[in-house]
Amino acid sequence: MTAIDALVVGAGPNGLAAAVVLARAGLAVTVLERGTTIGGGARTAEVTLPGFRHDLGSAVHPMAVASPFFRRFRLADRVPFLTPELSYAHPLEDGRAALAWRDLRRTASGLGADGPAWSRLLGPLVARAAQVARFTGGPVLRVPADPITALRFGLAVLDQGLPGWNRRWRDLEAAALLTGVMAHTIRPMPAIGPAAAGLALAVAGHAGGWPIPVGGSQAIVDALAADLVAHGGRIETGRDVRGPADLPSAAAVLFDTSVPALLAIAGDRVPAPRRALLARFRFGDGVGKVDYALDGPVPWANEESRRAVTLHLGGTRPEIAAAERAVARGRVPERPYVLVSQPTVLDPTRAPAGRHVLWAYTHLPNGSGIDPTELITSRVEHYAPGFRDLVLASNANSAADMERYDPNYGGGDIAAGAVDVRQLVARPLPSADPWRIAKGVYLCSAAAAPGPGVHGQPGYLAARSVLRHEFGVRTPPVLH
Ligand SMILES: Cc1cc2nc3c(=O)[nH]c(=O)nc-3n(C[C@H](O)[C@H](O)[C@H](O)COP(=O)(O)OP(=O)(O)OC[C@H]3O[C@@H](n4cnc5c(N)ncnc54)[C@H](O)[C@@H]3O)c2cc1C
Repeated sequence: MTAIDALVVGAGPNGLAAAVVLARAGLAVTVLERGTTIGGGARTAEVTLPGFRHDLGSAVHPMAVASPFFRRFRLADRVPFLTPELSYAHPLEDGRAALAWRDLRRTASGLGADGPAWSRLLGPLVARAAQVARFTGGPVLRVPADPITALRFGLAVLDQGLPGWNRRWRDLEAAALLTGVMAHTIRPMPAIGPAAAGLALAVAGHAGGWPIPVGGSQAIVDALAADLVAHGGRIETGRDVRGPADLPSAAAVLFDTSVPALLAIAGDRVPAPRRALLARFRFGDGVGKVDYALDGPVPWANEESRRAVTLHLGGTRPEIAAAERAVARGRVPERPYVLVSQPTVLDPTRAPAGRHVLWAYTHLPNGSGIDPTELITSRVEHYAPGFRDLVLASNANSAADMERYDPNYGGGDIAAGAVDVRQLVARPLPSADPWRIAKGVYLCSAAAAPGPGVHGQPGYLAARSVLRHEFGVRTPPVLH
């Protein structure tokens, strides 16, 4: 058997990003993945009917084109992306909708009295979109490379993350539009975590847009795996690492896992005070997801929403906030927030001719076992009368099922750990190098800074830490 320099547990986007960096630095890298296929939250598969390809986790990829790691990796040259003109739509009552076009001016002019306020909040950040992606792509506890961008972003986060969050808005549309993005974090609002994530995503929506890869998210992890293998790395599927005995010997082990899994496997190598800090790391609430095979496009009452790849259903800002509050209190909301992606309006390769796929999830209390099908179907039907009649087949996952699918999503928390203030600042540890858990032990998943999303940053930054601390390499390898 060949010696392993670096072992990566888990072949999600972050594990593969880390493995690519280490293999390109000349190390012998092995990746062990418990599933029969690679990809974690970026798998695509037929789970309803033959010929209908569904994204099982992530669907829309603003961060995969904007993140510092994927820009270095030149992902957009390896995977064809399609970028809609309309980044996301937010249907409201009576066939109205708030619309976030890629074009900031066009968005502002559709937002009536709040157009200028939208531009004032987002315009300066959109003008520095690359710097915003760099700032939000790292840990909070560090000296920012660009203090002006950090300050502007921080002020915008305080504007939308504190109880005075409605001060700047006069009407419903703009506030609803931004709240739909902030709600991605599955947290009660207003709060700092949702504001930070929502603003970063909204900025991306007006900069590089919210693209999808042709054929589905699997294309992203396949591109990483191809590069890894081309540089001598190995991937073994069907390797569930449960304890120290399952770990081959290696100079460094990188965990693309949850925090509890890292502790179960390598806790004995972690100094006791750090172990105690890590034991406090918490999952947040979960999601229930449904994938649909459809006989035709969704008949959204709002005509423009028919062109949107991404939609946020949930009504006004107070209605979304109420739904998220209910989830945080352990209840299933009556009128839940639902995130929808209809990739086939732009990418017909994912379904037979004339047919469509629809991806949708809603927020549910952590660990909930309820089948979300009716909850989501009735919500879509509300904004798209006639939807129900188009459903040829569907496949549902409760929040509990999401953890069975991927144990990083404890209780269905697809963020791999609550995005609250404590876990934004200390993800998972209060450090400028939060990926380094102990000598030879690293966390490289979304449970580490900067957190969830398909951007590769935890993997990239953990790998750089490994190179520095374990192999004395200070200059990262070229990635393209
Ligand atoms: C339903 C859903 C929708 C999402 N939507 C979006 C979106 O639209 N855009 C976006 O950017 N992000 C989205 N995300 C989030 C994004 O997918 C994740 O943040 C991202 O996949 C995290 O990558 P990761 O490599 O850290 O972990 P994961 O992708 O979770 O991968 C971890 C891998 O490690 C394996 N593993 C775990 N434990 C072990 C073990 N003990 N032994 C061996 N293998 C193990 C798992 O099987 C898995 O393959 C979504 C996620 C989900 C689930």
